[in-house]
Amino acid sequence: MRASVMTGVRQVEVQERPVPTPGDDEVLVRVGSVGVCGSDVHYFTAGRIGDMVVTGPLVLGHEVGGTVVGVGRDVPESRLGQRVAVEPQKPCRRCRQCHAGRMNLCPHMVFYATPPVDGAFCEYVTAPADFAHPVPDSLSDAAVGLLEPLSVGIWAMHKAAVGLGDRVLVAGAGPIGAMVAMAARARGATEVVVTDLVQSRRERILSFGATRALDPRESAAEIASMEADAFVDCTGATPAVLSGIGAVRGGGAVVLVGLGAETMDIPVQLVATRELTLTGVFRYVDTWPRAIELARTGAVDLDGMVTARYDLDSVDEALLADSDPLSMKAVVDVAGGPR
Ligand SMILES: [Zn+2]
Ligand SMILES: [Zn+2]
Repeated sequence: MRASVMTGVRQVEVQERPVPTPGDDEVLVRVGSVGVCGSDVHYFTAGRIGDMVVTGPLVLGHEVGGTVVGVGRDVPESRLGQRVAVEPQKPCRRCRQCHAGRMNLCPHMVFYATPPVDGAFCEYVTAPADFAHPVPDSLSDAAVGLLEPLSVGIWAMHKAAVGLGDRVLVAGAGPIGAMVAMAARARGATEVVVTDLVQSRRERILSFGATRALDPRESAAEIASMEADAFVDCTGATPAVLSGIGAVRGGGAVVLVGLGAETMDIPVQLVATRELTLTGVFRYVDTWPRAIELARTGAVDLDGMVTARYDLDSVDEALLADSDPLSMKAVVDVAGGPR
């Protein structure tokens, strides 16, 4: 098969690789489209994310779906031909975290496109049969791939326990901010305020779940008095996190999604006296069934997020395009033209 392989910082080349063989409980998926994620861009341009370092050839890409074209020994052949979204994680299912329902925190996790595990910018991938989720034909290939970042938004809303009539503040109007905002609306939040420094991103986010978009420099006082039920940071930027914490009502939730600054000075007395719940988000647990339903019913707009499309020969362009703040989502169509 053809695979776009990262061979060094800012270097990818298409190589021939053997088609992977599915394990007994796995399926072989012919890849349709793959969304470009900020983490892919980070590995490509910096060669690392924190202590996860690219040390050898690596296939990037983890926002993926396609068609089942092979099954392992224990998987029924009726699955052949099914269109599926791939949940790009393989937890061990045996450790305490897995048993407790926190498989996203499994210390033995094998995750696509995280060194040294290859991802999906290639023609075929394998996935556990129960993590290859059947999708309706009404979803485009791109939308099927974008169920992965939507899952991050759904998981963030779960961690924030957002519900009916809630007021949610989101920092960052990029693709994850959009997923969070759309998931917030789907969960019943009636006010979703998104902040971003870039005006065109603020205008655009109004089509992706935000009820209002604010410039944090001009609207600091308004944000501070918001009394939000939940704040979700999708920037990793210290000023955004600090102003967000200050905007949450007593008993509310602060959810950190964006990875940026490694450490920050946090107003711990405010967190204590307001009894704020402060938590991170790392991937997701059991989100695909909900993500598929939101996309199927039109509660979220995934196709509208796609700002550029590439093929397997131009993955480097796709990765560089996605680092442009005005790009919402770049997609690599592996199986051919857009579907
Ligand atoms: Zn991603
Ligand atoms: Zn485990």
